[in-house]
This record gives sequence, C-alpha cells and structure tokens, in this order.
Amino acid sequence: MKQTYYRICSNCGNQNAADANFCLKCGTTLSAADEYALIPHAADQTFPLFDLELTPDEVAQTKNFRITEDRDIPAGYRSAGLMFAESDVAPRAGAKAAWEDLMKHVYALLLAKGYDGVARVSIQPEPMQPSQLCLYGEALIVDTQH
Ligand SMILES: [Zn+2]
Repeated sequence: MKQTYYRICSNCGNQNAADANFCLKCGTTLSAADEYALIPHAADQTFPLFDLELTPDEVAQTKNFRITEDRDIPAGYRSAGLMFAESDVAPRAGAKAAWEDLMKHVYALLLAKGYDGVARVSIQPEPMQPSQLCLYGEALIVDTQH
C-alpha cells in the first residue's frame, strides 16, 4: 500500500520531506509530531469523524472510500469529474487543524455528492491564504457497469 509521509510545518504549512528536521521555507524546527500521511488510503487509517454527526448509512459508506494520489483511477471505480475542498480554520489554528478540517470537508463533500472517493489527489496551501489547505482531485464513484 502506497503511503506518502510529509512533515507539515506548524508555522507556515509547507510540506517538507518526511526526514526534514527544519522547514525548507521558514526554518521552523520539525519533529515526528509534525508528520502526516498526506495521501491516506481511507480504509487504512482512523479518521476523526466525531463531529461530522454521520448517520449509520453514512458511516457504512465511508468504509468504502478510496483516497489516493495515484494517477490511475482505481479498479472498480470511474471518474465523476473534478472536485475541490478546502480547510476553513482560524489562521492561528496551525497546519494540523487545517489538515483535519480539510479531511472533514473532503468526507462531507464525498458523502453529500454520493462519491466513493477521490484519486489524483493534490493537497497544497491556499495561494492567497497559506494557513489553509486545499485539495484538488478527481471524484470517484464505484463503477457498476462491469
Ligand atoms: Zn515553515
């Protein structure tokens, strides 16, 4: 299973290599505490769903979510078009809060639209608001036309 780790700078939100001890952009000291699996396979990780207030049906749906940076559409899925999500936290909340809020919005969007995941994921700081993160990707739905 492909998993990509980064150390996200708590000061500026820059995505640094997983072994970086300092932020390449602003020089802030980094440690293992700043490490995130940026491209998680949703089935492989626990996710704080507590404040999404999901129905049992929605909880069941999240178990099938695929979230991947792979360029290929996963087998059994097809593209449903481009999707975009962004975090919305106070600028002082830090990169971790932005990351968690972004993931919350991604899950909420997938559930609201009836998508089953997202591929070709790219996560980056908002150009105009570097304290926020945004995600671009291709929405997936399970391909039932086999
Ligand atoms: Zn930094």
